[in-house]
Amino acid sequence: MEGNFICPHCGALNDELRGCFCTKCGAPLQNSCTNKDCENYDPVTADIMSTDCYCPLCGSMTVFKQGGWVVPDD
Ligand SMILES: [Zn+2]
Ligand SMILES: [Zn+2]
Repeated sequence: MEGNFICPHCGALNDELRGCFCTKCGAPLQNSCTNKDCENYDPVTADIMSTDCYCPLCGSMTVFKQGGWVVPDD
């Protein structure tokens, strides 16, 4: 399974080594911070879970939250 990554948005199987975006739906495979001054802005190194709505480092919205792919738990 190494290199394989299930898209959290559409469920398609992607090869992680080919890039950071789903080849079926175009959505980013790794969640990251929307604040370009933040350490978590780069999806390759970002320490953000796919279920996170906000960045733990700066509190900015995450890419997944911005795209509407995650919603806050009640
Ligand atoms: Zn997808
Ligand atoms: Zn951040």
